[in-house]
Amino acid sequence: MSEVNRRIVLAARPHGAPKETDFRLVESPVPTAGEGQVLCRTIYLSIDPYMRGRMNEEPSYAAPVGIGQPMVGGTVGQVVNSGLPGYAPGDFVLGHGGWQDYWVADGGALRRLDPATAPISTALGMLGMPGLTAYTGLLEIGRPLPGETLVVAAAAGAVGAVVGQIARIKGCRAVGVAGTPPKCDYVVNELGFDACIDHRAPDFRRALRAACPDGIDIYFENVGGAVFEAVLELLNDFARVPVCGLIAQYNATEPPPGPNLVPKLMRRVLVKRLTVRGFIVFDFHDREPDFLRDVGGWLREGRIKYKEDVVAGLKNAPKALIGLLQGRNFGKLLVRVADDPTR
Ligand code: NDP
Repeated sequence: MSEVNRRIVLAARPHGAPKETDFRLVESPVPTAGEGQVLCRTIYLSIDPYMRGRMNEEPSYAAPVGIGQPMVGGTVGQVVNSGLPGYAPGDFVLGHGGWQDYWVADGGALRRLDPATAPISTALGMLGMPGLTAYTGLLEIGRPLPGETLVVAAAAGAVGAVVGQIARIKGCRAVGVAGTPPKCDYVVNELGFDACIDHRAPDFRRALRAACPDGIDIYFENVGGAVFEAVLELLNDFARVPVCGLIAQYNATEPPPGPNLVPKLMRRVLVKRLTVRGFIVFDFHDREPDFLRDVGGWLREGRIKYKEDVVAGLKNAPKALIGLLQGRNFGKLLVRVADDPTR
């Protein structure tokens, strides 16, 4: 076992897009696990858009990371030693260890993983927080019905890919929005969406309209900005809009230039009787058993697919997060911190 715990801490709060100098790699002794705790070694670190919000000082639904503190994050790892009954060295676990080689957890903060059931990395993607976000946001708020049209943005990513595939299983027409032609090709030809439109293409609005000849019944909002403005024109009466994320705004330092679209939006909400509801994944924590049963089953049956974008080395985590906020990832973004002994 390495004698050193490498940690990536927040060095400075970014103004706009984060830079590599906003992070610092430090070394500290490997922590020890007390009674009722386990020491885990990180194998995979999840890189997620919410991490950008944690770098800001303003209060949000979760506390900011302090300057000099390790960046937070979901992790899959292996138990090194255990003072907790039921956990033994070598066990694979899902936890929230953050951007570091080792973390100490108590039992309530861990989920045991069985590599024979699914690859352990999926606990950070399809069978983890992003998958639960997609499943609950779509089923609890989107409430898909057969024959309806669903549109989801960031469709090649961790959440969007699951949303569209579940919508297809529920009998919807699924239309993705993604940022490059190869991503759009993957969304249609690998994930089985009915169409996917490149939001950077000059004819984006026209192409979206053509892909939704019966309008839009559910818009699963992952990005905000220009994509939302195009979708708003196409929403049907009684459409549902689960507001999951607004990644197009996460690096913004000031509001976009006018006109003020709030009056138009509110008129549309009224006239079309729209349901627009924000949610955070932990609102639906109690749906996790149903999620694992359903999505785990669809995965084993080959009815849904996933793609991972794996970056090697803890030191590359900052660059990975910076790229995610620019759309450089293709699939669920992970950092492989140590070799995965199950592969
Ligand atoms: P992804 O794997 O989809 O990666 C992010 C993607 O967002 C990029 O690849 C890019 O895709 C797209 N993107 C980035 N910048 C922009 C931009 N300026 N305009 C349009 N698209 C952009 O991430 P996740 O699936 O993990 O997250 C998707 C969304 O869901 C995020 O907004 C995130 O904050 C939110 N989320 C919310 C949760 C909740 O509890 N409410 C939980 C988990 C995620 P492309 O190249 O296709 O444009």
